[in-house]
Amino acid sequence: MPRILITGAAGFLGSHLCDRFIREGYEVVGMDNLITGDLRNLEHLFPLKQFTFYNKDVSTFIHVPGPLDYILHFASPASPIDYLKIPIQTLKVGSLGTHNCLGLAKAKKARILVASTSEVYGDPTVHPQTEEYWGNVNPVGPRGVYDEAKRFQEAMTMAYHTYHGLETRIIRIFNTYGPRMRLNDGRVLPAFIGQALRGEDLTVFGKGNQTRSFCYVDDLVEGIYRLLHCDYPYPVNIGNPDEITILQFAEEIIKLTGTKQKIVFKDLPKDDPTQRRPDITKAKKILGWEPKVSRAEGLKITYAAFKALPKEVLYKQEHRDFEGYIRK
Ligand code: UDP
Repeated sequence: MPRILITGAAGFLGSHLCDRFIREGYEVVGMDNLITGDLRNLEHLFPLKQFTFYNKDVSTFIHVPGPLDYILHFASPASPIDYLKIPIQTLKVGSLGTHNCLGLAKAKKARILVASTSEVYGDPTVHPQTEEYWGNVNPVGPRGVYDEAKRFQEAMTMAYHTYHGLETRIIRIFNTYGPRMRLNDGRVLPAFIGQALRGEDLTVFGKGNQTRSFCYVDDLVEGIYRLLHCDYPYPVNIGNPDEITILQFAEEIIKLTGTKQKIVFKDLPKDDPTQRRPDITKAKKILGWEPKVSRAEGLKITYAAFKALPKEVLYKQEHRDFEGYIRK
């Protein structure tokens, strides 16, 4: 049975990855410090003997007993509000956390895939974004802590590949959505759905003419699975090229939820990218991958999952106490 370490395991993407690799017959070791992760996302895996969990900050020295075949480094705050609230931890997990994961991969002779992001392109002047584009990032703006940590992460990962011959993979993830996103993390989809469910107006930032391209989580996980198992060490974009303005997106959510609330306009956050769409030519060619789930289908599933959340989660996200399960 192959053994894989997944950092950020209690997060949105990390927990979906744990599920997928358990389903594929892997032994999964999850790691998370629970700053932005939530153990409710992993609750169903704790009874399985193929699953273990460490409540651990990957930015400090990490030790995992036993062999490891693969590492997926997915630990990081990933919403603009999170990295505004915890900028230093964001910088540390992308830099020191990545270094620790690479060191562990080297020690275990494991293949490692690191989660990079479309944020490495900043506010892009090339559209759609190809992997060859170097980006347009403001290092000292509010997003700099995330963007630059991820750019450092890519550089560090390539250095381990070229200098140590480590087997490395780099995915650049574009906006992804689905069940288990944190309802109050400030990202646009949970923000709009949360507002609709609470009977609040939908807050569109700026004029809403900025664009994003939203990928359903199952499609992303499939892309990650394929990338991990191919032999391509350079960055690969994974995302859904179906681009939409944020205003159109708000209108879609109003239609989907049937809310009677209206759209209100708020100031555009500093350095908010004006456009974003992945060029996925490389993923198609190298991985034979392209997204399968339309936004209409994906949003329906996501809305159903959010609607089923208990009231206290809708109004306040609280961590439940799973201390008994956690190996410190
Ligand atoms: N946004 C918005 N209203 C909100 C939250 C976000 O209009 O309540 C906008 C935000 O300004 C950005 C887009 O939605 O242009 C996507 O924001 P998100 O935080 O989800 O992620 P980003 O793609 O900017 O990293």
